[in-house]
Amino acid sequence: MNIHVDAEKCTGCQLCIKACPYGAIEMAEGLATITEACTLCGGCVSVCPVGAIIWEVPAIEEVDTSDYQGVWVIGEVGEDGLAGVTWELLGKGRELAENLDTELSLVVLGDKAGELAQKAAQSGPDRVFYAEEP
Ligand code: SF4
Ligand code: SF4
Repeated sequence: MNIHVDAEKCTGCQLCIKACPYGAIEMAEGLATITEACTLCGGCVSVCPVGAIIWEVPAIEEVDTSDYQGVWVIGEVGEDGLAGVTWELLGKGRELAENLDTELSLVVLGDKAGELAQKAAQSGPDRVFYAEEP
């Protein structure tokens, strides 16, 4: 794990335990211990008054995007079909796709996705991908 407690610094104040939304910190022999339940959200780091929580954020590797193409919008599916924000994103996605001279695609996942995808196909995206599953 990329996070640990520096035993030399930890005073056992337990502030980090209260701050962790995942219940991932336990006390052991007066020291905070981060367990496997940690999601690496980083929420506890700034709470520690003595800087005892060491969180090593992995370096982000530079990604070569030269082979990537297309703009995808992931549709938000609500009880009444595609949520309004999806249409807004399709509008912005269209602008972006035109600027990049590429295709705009919509992805629809969930119950009745096929039906929703068919309707959405008439409203702007060049392609619609869907997977139907409640
Ligand atoms: S990084 Fe997040 S999940 Fe992990 S111990 Fe800290 S607050 Fe809890
Ligand atoms: S907040 Fe810092 S000093 Fe307090 S128990 Fe957690 S790690 Fe130790």
